[in-house]
Amino acid sequence: MTILKLVKYGEPSLRQKSKEISKISKKIQILAENMIDTMYKNNGVGLAAPQVGENIRMFVIDVSKDNEPFNPIVFINPKIIEKSGASHDKEGCLSFPNAFVDVRRYANVKVKALNLNGKPFITEAKDGSLLSRALQHEYDHLDGILFIDHSRNVFETIDVLEKNNLPPIDKTKMIDEPDIEEELLNKAENDE
Ligand code: ZN
Repeated sequence: MTILKLVKYGEPSLRQKSKEISKISKKIQILAENMIDTMYKNNGVGLAAPQVGENIRMFVIDVSKDNEPFNPIVFINPKIIEKSGASHDKEGCLSFPNAFVDVRRYANVKVKALNLNGKPFITEAKDGSLLSRALQHEYDHLDGILFIDHSRNVFETIDVLEKNNLPPIDKTKMIDEPDIEEELLNKAENDE
């Protein structure tokens, strides 16, 4: 078991687009195992390869609860094949110690990927569940996109980053998501 060093926000490699994995070698398998151990050690629900200094398209997720058995899933060369709906919630990231901010996400996603044996599989997640958000969060890492880019409240994010001694937000990276935001505002109105 090897606990890997985490790449923190501010390191340029977190903003790079990662490369497809052409062969699932022994090295990739060991990296996946070490990523799972590193995720558990840091109490995370997901970890992407760029967060441990490898700019390749792989991430691991385990959204099992404390009273459930471990259920790590490895995603290699993932693709989001369906996305719909709107959700938002506070998210954190192992590359941003102690920083949690409210971010926009699709409510439902379907992801296709390869497992460690090179076999394709599909994972579906709905209703803004932890799995749904984790899939979108980790997938983004492979394209150099970070959760703060989806912030609903930029001022909150600026404040949270500053309080945690993290580098400031890069406003040029922020993603405009009018469709999701409109649906969230409509939902909020209907809930009143
Ligand atoms: Zn993250």
